[in-house]
Amino acid sequence: MTGHLKISEALRDVKVGKVWFDEPMSRHASLKLGGRVDALAMPESEDQLEVLVRRLKENHILFLPVGNLTNILVRDGGYRGVLISLRGLDRVMCSPAEDGRFWIAAQAGAALGRIVGLAAERELTGLEFCAGIPGSVGGAVWMNAGAFGTEIKDVLVSVTVIDGEGKKKTLRREEIAFAYRKSNLPENAVICGACFALSKGHSGQIRDRMAEILKWRQEKHPLQYPSAGSVFKNLPGLPAGRLLEEMGLKGRRLGDVQISKKHANFMINKGQGTASDMVKLIRLVQEAVQKERGLFLETEVVIIGEES
Ligand SMILES: Cc1cc2nc3c(=O)[nH]c(=O)nc-3n(C[C@H](O)[C@H](O)[C@H](O)COP(=O)(O)OP(=O)(O)OC[C@H]3O[C@@H](n4cnc5c(N)ncnc54)[C@H](O)[C@@H]3O)c2cc1C
Repeated sequence: MTGHLKISEALRDVKVGKVWFDEPMSRHASLKLGGRVDALAMPESEDQLEVLVRRLKENHILFLPVGNLTNILVRDGGYRGVLISLRGLDRVMCSPAEDGRFWIAAQAGAALGRIVGLAAERELTGLEFCAGIPGSVGGAVWMNAGAFGTEIKDVLVSVTVIDGEGKKKTLRREEIAFAYRKSNLPENAVICGACFALSKGHSGQIRDRMAEILKWRQEKHPLQYPSAGSVFKNLPGLPAGRLLEEMGLKGRRLGDVQISKKHANFMINKGQGTASDMVKLIRLVQEAVQKERGLFLETEVVIIGEES
């Protein structure tokens, strides 16, 4: 049975939201490139999500939860399994906590920008550093997204996941180990939501900080082109962008994928870029860095799928 036939058979008699088969990721990923996935499923409720995860597990079908696909590169040969998009789960709530702070509870598919906006509206401080990060709440928690010395773990209270047995459970921040752009959440755990603690701040200061960050991003990042943000993780004390700039790699191009002339840690799609061009450019950079500096540059961008 081919991939999508097996998937449609497994999901035949259950309601799991919308499912697209043989879906090109160039249509969904911020890079505007990438191969086809056997199926892209978008549950509309947490119940549907639980059913979907259980069914896929029972049928030994590979799956990966995704948010806004702003940090993923799907190889041109595509992904043999189901990408579970959390975008249908996007409720957000703000409430006072007992300790005088405020909680923002968000489902995983809510855009980070939405909770940043809600916090500003309620004059709550703590999330300004996320201004301009285009991911979802689930993706930001999984990746421990960060900027300007603050990471998502710094404002996190708890995370609700569907675990390896397909059961929902809530983990307190203290139960999860976070590091630079990663967490030790179990592989295949699907984040359904997260809760953040924020403090009362000053509206003007919050909005000024957000405006300052957005202006900085406009000036430093090549936002007019499709990208997945920083391609490589920084090395201790050495930003990857600075290293690549020093090595003269800015502007290097393979097909329509180019190392941005504006920021060397961004690879941009100039129109007809392919995942294969980008993977080759990533390898070229890693080999050059290894050869010239004896250092290994790890990718921040998550690469999945098969070669074409
Ligand atoms: C212009 C631009 C600027 C950026 N700036 C920054 C920045 O300043 N700082 C920063 O940290 N990042 C930045 N990024 C990268 C990216 O936006 C973040 O990593 C973001 O947190 C990814 O969220 P996402 O929803 O797009 O995740 P996706 O790209 O969809 O997924 C990323 C990873 O998270 C996992 N994941 C996603 N959702 C879930 C879930 N619900 N449950 C379990 N796992 C999940 C996926 O399996 C994958 O491994 C930038 C990207 C762009 C394009």
